[in-house]
Amino acid sequence: MCDDQYIITQETLQWMKNIAHDYPNEICTHLISYNQTLYVNKDSISLGGPRMDDEGNIRQSCEYNRNLIKEYIFHSHPFSSGSYPSKEDVMKVFKHTETKVSIIATRWGLYTIKNSDIARTHYKNIKNTNKYNQLLEYVKQKLHDIGRINVNEVELTLEQLNIILITLNKISRKTALSLKFCSWKELQV
Ligand SMILES: [Zn+2]
Repeated sequence: MCDDQYIITQETLQWMKNIAHDYPNEICTHLISYNQTLYVNKDSISLGGPRMDDEGNIRQSCEYNRNLIKEYIFHSHPFSSGSYPSKEDVMKVFKHTETKVSIIATRWGLYTIKNSDIARTHYKNIKNTNKYNQLLEYVKQKLHDIGRINVNEVELTLEQLNIILITLNKISRKTALSLKFCSWKELQV
């Protein structure tokens, strides 16, 4: 995958792509980390469905098995959802100190959101302050930039890919999280 710290086998990548491309619903599960390789925990797979979010919009969402620690997590965005992380996806990693890696499979490719000690400290310093709400708004606005890309194509143009990479980089700088994107083509699946 497009991260030098963890490995995802081609078999797992293919599974992730198929889930995002072939299922109408969101799917979520825990990942198992072994020898720096991330595997899907097939015993904890949950099927999501449409739910109402805080702002009254109907969105796909999925509940992780509560009994497991959310250190390494995966979820898909089906074609009916945006092909990019939601602000909740980003803020969830920022807020949940136990989460190390969150992987999202979408129509275009794979997003990786990684937590860090600096991000955790940053969160502790700004939670319950106005700065947190400002950051939330910033993340939302930035993700809208990706949202403006035509969602119907599976393959991206170089220009569209650049919009994604620049936007993720901006969010990384503000949150101290690591946000990466790799297209399916780049991942060779
Ligand atoms: Zn999501």
